[in-house]
Amino acid sequence: MPLRLLPPGMTPVRLRAAQRRFAAILGADRVFFDELDRETYSDQFAISPDSHVPIGAVAPESVEEIRAIVAVANAYKLPLWPISRGKNLGYGGSAPVLSGSVVLDLSRMKKIEVDRENGVVLVEPGVSFYDLHDYLQTNDIPLWLSVPGNSWGSVAGNALDRGVGYTTYGDHTSKICGLEVVLPDGDLVRTGMGAMANAPTWQLYRYGYGPAWDQLFVQSNFGIVTKLGLWLMPRPESMMGLELNFDKPEDLEWAVDILAGLRREGLLQQAPSIGNWLRAAAVLTKREDWHDQPGALPDSVIAAIRRKFQLGWWGTSVRVYGRESVNRAAISAIKSAFKGHRLMSMERTHWVDGEPLERSAWVGAPITFPMQNVGWHGGRGGHIGFSPVLPANGRLAMEQFRQTYARYKEFGMDYQASFAMGERHLTNVNAILFNQDDPAMMARIHPFFRTLVADAKARGYAEYRAHIEHMDLVAETYDFNNHALRRLNERVKDALDPNGVIAPGKSGIWPARLRTRRRR
Ligand SMILES: Cc1cc2nc3c(=O)[nH]c(=O)nc-3n(C[C@H](O)[C@H](O)[C@H](O)COP(=O)(O)OP(=O)(O)OC[C@H]3O[C@@H](n4cnc5c(N)ncnc54)[C@H](O)[C@@H]3O)c2cc1C
Repeated sequence: MPLRLLPPGMTPVRLRAAQRRFAAILGADRVFFDELDRETYSDQFAISPDSHVPIGAVAPESVEEIRAIVAVANAYKLPLWPISRGKNLGYGGSAPVLSGSVVLDLSRMKKIEVDRENGVVLVEPGVSFYDLHDYLQTNDIPLWLSVPGNSWGSVAGNALDRGVGYTTYGDHTSKICGLEVVLPDGDLVRTGMGAMANAPTWQLYRYGYGPAWDQLFVQSNFGIVTKLGLWLMPRPESMMGLELNFDKPEDLEWAVDILAGLRREGLLQQAPSIGNWLRAAAVLTKREDWHDQPGALPDSVIAAIRRKFQLGWWGTSVRVYGRESVNRAAISAIKSAFKGHRLMSMERTHWVDGEPLERSAWVGAPITFPMQNVGWHGGRGGHIGFSPVLPANGRLAMEQFRQTYARYKEFGMDYQASFAMGERHLTNVNAILFNQDDPAMMARIHPFFRTLVADAKARGYAEYRAHIEHMDLVAETYDFNNHALRRLNERVKDALDPNGVIAPGKSGIWPARLRTRRRR
């Protein structure tokens, strides 16, 4: 085992002793400490391949096994990095912030309990979007999922990282209702109404009594979630929508203002995401088919790609769900909100119960085709995201776009971005597509990313979710009153996890013992 990977304060002898104790709990076939295991649990879209390498992994199948593993971790001060399915591609995959951590792979925990009448589900961490979708179909349960663009991962892990999907239930973390959590000292808690033994309301009322803890286990390192309650959408009577294409970059301004108004009003309950031409093109074609020079793509090439695939400079999809009569009225009101503006194209989509159902993310069917975008540059592809949160305002979105687009050109990168419409905010997801086998390109990623963070910070914007490589950098931008929020988080961390064994460094939260590891 490479000594450089030993976690802080660990010796090879103590690590081997911890491994033996893991094997006694799980059996040798669920303890993974070989070179190939380390590679498997590393980030497959790595931007700093040597910085986030786990020392090994363990795969429990029950809460009791997790509690026993946590006891060993405390005894040896061995950091654990919990993952549900570990498909957090673009944010670090299954890899930990701190090299030498042991990945706690919960993908074997796959129980699903659906409450059909109330439209809720209780899942264990290993339940994938495909598992839950199959379960609902097989059992003819009239509930729909909301899935992310890469649905290979888990229902729980995605919601715990504030993942997003396509339907009106697409703000996944807001649909969490009740958690079961193993705390860093091994204690087991249930949040909300679950704090009462056998409460039938655990998945029905979010807050319980006193402080509500669900969100404190989201994007945090305060515990290991072993069960997650989630609300699901009742299968609607109909789904209707519009496919919109906008011809010019500056159309973003009025498109954002129109959609933001519809969101505030509540007429539009799903979060449309206005994406540029490359979001669509990168899954349809490869860069080498169009251009063989490095640097950002020239406008003439962009125009040719758009022509071939009939793409707007921007495009978005709008969907409404529910009663047919209500949807008809809503779609016609949404359509008329665009009157007076020149659209490149507007197409209606229409589905009513009884008609054949498309297999798409709009109806909660899991998808993986968006991952084809990793082939854009050829080689071992990958991407990371830079996703600041903005006010839902067209002028500000346009300013943000212009500045970011200029930076992509300055750093010789191809611009792929979207503006996803929250209820009161915009999430500006900028994908940085790369080829891990192109050293010149990889050398530009860090300076480019840091520049984007600094630009956004100067406007008062910060990221909603970060790659493991950038968790400290992003936490640093949340700086009110000398980082009072980080200090609060770390006081809670130290109280709950005095040995600092759960996901050190996650979201920029470091336990006292390892605080010197924070990157400045
Ligand atoms: C092309 C492409 C498109 C994508 N599109 C989307 C999209 O539309 N929306 C979206 O949200 N994401 C998207 N992603 C990102 C990512 O792939 C998904 O969010 C995916 O669901 C995350 O993987 P997972 O569910 O297996 O989570 P995991 O990797 O298991 O978990 C994510 C993180 O949450 C924490 N965590 C997980 N489980 C636990 C637990 N039980 N207890 C405590 N902490 C835990 C860990 O820190 C972990 O690193 C996309 C990625 C790609 C490559």
